[in-house]
Amino acid sequence: MKPEERMLRREDTAELLSRCVQCGFCNATCPTYLATGLELEGPRGRIGLIKSMVEGHSVSAKTQLHLDQCLTCLNCESSCPSGVEYRRIIDIGRAWMKDRIPRGIASLLPRVIVSKMMSHPRGLGLGFWVGRCFKYVLPSAFQPYLELPRRLSPDPSPANETLKTVLLLKGCVQRHLAPAINQALRDLLGKLGYRVIEIGDADCCGAVGHHLGERGAAKAQARKTLKALRPYLFDASLKGDQAPIIMMTSSACGLMLRDFEALYQNDPEMAEEVRRIHQYTLDPVELIEHHAPEISNRIDHERVKGLNLKIHEPCTLQHGMKLKGRLTALFFSLGFTPSQGKAPHLCCGAGGVYSLMNPEMAQSLRQEKRRDLGLEGEADTIALTSNIGCMLHLDSKGEVIHWIEFLRGVFKEEP
Ligand code: SF4
Ligand code: SF4
Repeated sequence: MKPEERMLRREDTAELLSRCVQCGFCNATCPTYLATGLELEGPRGRIGLIKSMVEGHSVSAKTQLHLDQCLTCLNCESSCPSGVEYRRIIDIGRAWMKDRIPRGIASLLPRVIVSKMMSHPRGLGLGFWVGRCFKYVLPSAFQPYLELPRRLSPDPSPANETLKTVLLLKGCVQRHLAPAINQALRDLLGKLGYRVIEIGDADCCGAVGHHLGERGAAKAQARKTLKALRPYLFDASLKGDQAPIIMMTSSACGLMLRDFEALYQNDPEMAEEVRRIHQYTLDPVELIEHHAPEISNRIDHERVKGLNLKIHEPCTLQHGMKLKGRLTALFFSLGFTPSQGKAPHLCCGAGGVYSLMNPEMAQSLRQEKRRDLGLEGEADTIALTSNIGCMLHLDSKGEVIHWIEFLRGVFKEEP
């Protein structure tokens, strides 16, 4: 029996599945159900398929298709009144499916390429280089990932008073496509008095492998992140109040780090390490909101006068990390008056690598989200988000930007 299956046959699998009372409330907030109207394209239907699979009934390519079409946006988790942990159930379903339903070459090849590239960052750099050379013959779903990196912001100023240590992960895709986002956070935290250590040795945190339902690949990708963080997690001089903060500017990566506990469940040797990572990991909004009064005095509101400011809170932030409304509230507390559109809970279709694997559904959700955010016609609209995947997917000409870059751009040097 594979280690993966040992984990999946644990006694609580049945308990996880039994919590679903099949009421169907979740269907009302599921983007794929709303787009198709099909029961098997909604969470209740998918949970039914997974239950049937783990109970030993036969599975087919149809099951694979319906699980592949799930964005893992976790909107269903937020709307479920019974507390069903859909994220655990879909992980179980995808792992069971992996060895039971062979993939055709058209589905397998892009998964293997993306998974291997993320496990070998030099390959990722080379992949971007080759991709840019062949930009105009590649499908449109790849285009957002082939733009040249955005311009860097000015060098960070040194911290004048150390509050705490922030371990800032460089990320994988982001370091190639938008290094200015991390630079802006470093700069901002330095001005607020934090000591920022950028962790460059960690590559993909495992989120890509996880999104593809490849548990083994996710662990292989996570290994370097764990290795890079380990010395700080057990540094006796950084205990209690001085324990470091682990941070990344992509909310998808933040969610993955917090969910390392699930990736390494049933692995007692890793238990303390992943517990500390969960405890120390913060999304930037959870730190910056404590400094709102100080920052609001230093915002150059003249520079943003007349802007139609929108906030797109990624699913990983609102449904994954359960920080719904916090980014919008932060901007209100800083003196802005942003809006979120009529359906802020719905996914934009980026879904990690979903937009590469399921371009049709991803494009349809993108168009809806762009319309809802006013990016299709409302003048002077800028949408702020907290995840590079959503940013690249939604953007067309620089009107979707990371909120940290925006904040750094309007931050006055002197109060
Ligand atoms: S996941 Fe929750 S909301 Fe959806 S059918 Fe099951 S119990 Fe109902
Ligand atoms: S994770 Fe998102 S797409 Fe998947 S079933 Fe839940 S709401 Fe639907």
